[in-house]
Amino acid sequence: MTRDTVYDVMVIGAGFAGMAASLFASSRGLSVAQAGTTGGIDFSTGFIDLMGVHPVSEQRRRMRPWKAVEAVVRDCPGHPYGLVERDELAASINEFTAFLAEQGLEYVGHDDRNTCVLTPAGTVKRTYRVPRTAWNGVVALEQKAPTLIVDFHGLKGFSAKQLMQTRKDSWPQLEAVRVEFPAGRGELYPEHMAWALADPANRVRLAETVMARAGGAEYVGFPAVLGLNDPLKVVTHLEELTGKKIFEIPTMPPSIAGPRLRGAFDRGLPAKGVRTLSQKMVLKASAADGDMLRFEVGTGAAAVTVTAKAAILATGRFFGKGLRANRQGMTEPLFNIPVVQPRTRDEWHGPDFFGPQGHPANMAGIEVDSRLRPLGDGAPVHRNLFAAGAILAHQDWMRMKCGAGLAIATAFKAVKELTG
Ligand SMILES: Cc1cc2nc3c(=O)[nH]c(=O)nc-3n(C[C@H](O)[C@H](O)[C@H](O)COP(=O)(O)OP(=O)(O)OC[C@H]3O[C@@H](n4cnc5c(N)ncnc54)[C@H](O)[C@@H]3O)c2cc1C
Repeated sequence: MTRDTVYDVMVIGAGFAGMAASLFASSRGLSVAQAGTTGGIDFSTGFIDLMGVHPVSEQRRRMRPWKAVEAVVRDCPGHPYGLVERDELAASINEFTAFLAEQGLEYVGHDDRNTCVLTPAGTVKRTYRVPRTAWNGVVALEQKAPTLIVDFHGLKGFSAKQLMQTRKDSWPQLEAVRVEFPAGRGELYPEHMAWALADPANRVRLAETVMARAGGAEYVGFPAVLGLNDPLKVVTHLEELTGKKIFEIPTMPPSIAGPRLRGAFDRGLPAKGVRTLSQKMVLKASAADGDMLRFEVGTGAAAVTVTAKAAILATGRFFGKGLRANRQGMTEPLFNIPVVQPRTRDEWHGPDFFGPQGHPANMAGIEVDSRLRPLGDGAPVHRNLFAAGAILAHQDWMRMKCGAGLAIATAFKAVKELTG
């Protein structure tokens, strides 16, 4: 095991919160080490939700995210959005999406309202920022314009026909077609298709196939397989070739959106000086000299010890492995931070398992002070330990539709607090 330099901050986690924390900290001149394996970001549909549903018990879907944030802070005591000012929240999303744009993943949306986008099931989702490559689909949906949805023989998890049937009543000029993919038959995977479309010759063949079936459609929607690192280039080329407005719809998770986002951070964070300990877990955390923290990261010959002046815990909930659950209850495994949770296991779930209101267990997590420092026995566990993202208590990002927004905003705030 090798001993390392002292970093300003150790970021524990490589989901939306961990990536955002590393980005914000490195952009402010801090030296950063980051560890973590696959997180929710790898499975995301690529949309950045700010606040989509409140109250969840009524399934009230919101078009005005800022009003919804205000309401959730008022109605849900302890919700982490209550710790972030509106201008901080807006700045965090802007800085995050500006970085993604530099990496070739442009995001768009309205500042004061959510955007309606198509999901692979044909339902409509409200979200705050969408990839530029999905935007023509937003316009087509809004205008109910003549649109063709294309899918491919051999691609699972995306059915143009199902999507068309779901929307047909409200969108009569929506058509569906299934075609052969120009570069491969049999079972197809989005990532392989995306790589294949990096070759302009395959795009030309795809455009020819689609044009033969497009009729009077003004817009053509594809499953999100249009390139991996530079999807806008693929979309623009297809628009030139077809004369149609092209857009992407995410496939079912895991979709290509996750690898695109991960790729952007894998390229961009090391370029900003972040030491990324990719696919490595922090196995042990302890207090070191003064107010420092020490971490044992990874196993075997590749194991390292990292010492840092501060740390941001962005380890997510059960999916990310930031929390564990057993018959006795829920625990936080790294620092043994108390987890706010129902008193007994019997109270984890309500009687209606699929009820829209979710379950008390969905609000479990760690509590923090106003500076986002995890609390144990009413006081910060460590004066230089901060937390961000899904691990925070008193929120149910999945039902409230605030996943990425909450992760990015709390990472922004945590970095601000540790530098302040
Ligand atoms: C299928 C799916 C689709 C989604 N779609 C959307 C969407 O369209 N829009 C949206 O806004 N949100 C979406 N989300 C939600 C969003 O991804 C989550 O809100 C977000 O992942 C929470 O981020 P996080 O970084 O806090 O936690 P996570 O994403 O869970 O990441 C936790 C990270 O911590 C790491 N970790 C855990 N323990 C350790 C340790 N000991 N040492 C080092 N690292 C550790 C994990 O390896 C992981 O990298 C989706 C999530 C899923 C699962």
